[in-house]
Amino acid sequence: MSKPVPIGLVVTLEDENDSVINPKPVEAAGGTPLILPYSDKEETIESILDLIGGLLLAGGKDVAPEFYEESPHPKLGEVEPLRDPAEFRIIAEALTRDMPILGVCRGIQTLNVAAGGTLYQDIPSFVPTDIQHSNPWDAALDPESPQEHHPIEIDPSSRLFKIVKAKSLVVNSYHHQSVKDLAPGFKVSARCSDSIVEAVESLKHGFVLGVQCHIELLWDKDPRWLALYRAFIEASADYYKRVHG
Ligand code: MN
Repeated sequence: MSKPVPIGLVVTLEDENDSVINPKPVEAAGGTPLILPYSDKEETIESILDLIGGLLLAGGKDVAPEFYEESPHPKLGEVEPLRDPAEFRIIAEALTRDMPILGVCRGIQTLNVAAGGTLYQDIPSFVPTDIQHSNPWDAALDPESPQEHHPIEIDPSSRLFKIVKAKSLVVNSYHHQSVKDLAPGFKVSARCSDSIVEAVESLKHGFVLGVQCHIELLWDKDPRWLALYRAFIEASADYYKRVHG
């Protein structure tokens, strides 16, 4: 087996569980997870990206709407003033380099915003739906906790479909925000039946893909999500080889 490729992770640093769980599927898929600092120095961000082969954007709190030029809605939740600016700088630089990116939950949202899209600040305030997208996070990390909240329909012409090889999958759902206007150059690769965007991918990058569900809690139960981590790590290893020889 080839040497594990270094993968940078943007996580909510003060969330111990989030920082501990997200690296596990990266390791399982053949990567070396490196949790990235919230640096405001452009030079640091460039040096960090020189070291890694791929970027994983993990879950977290709400994205501050100023990054897509909206004012805060009354139902906007807690935001991450330290993480947001660093994460957006890192994503912008990674997109410029065409480095592989995998966005998970908040990560699909920061990816879409960084690439020029917008978000619903609170799904129930904007989209009529009977589906509960916002399930309580408190019990989510309990290994016994059910992770089957709603199905998603996957576009058979998408990269995501080629990886998971399923038109429909039942996923977990712990979000009250979601993609509104899709970033230019992206396509929706999966939706819920109520039209909420559940996965996106870039048409102009090598491997830039985001999912709204928390696959870090699904990969050890459903090998199709492990296949997504593997595809991401494989793309990252190819990128790393291309850049570093
Ligand atoms: Mn959902």
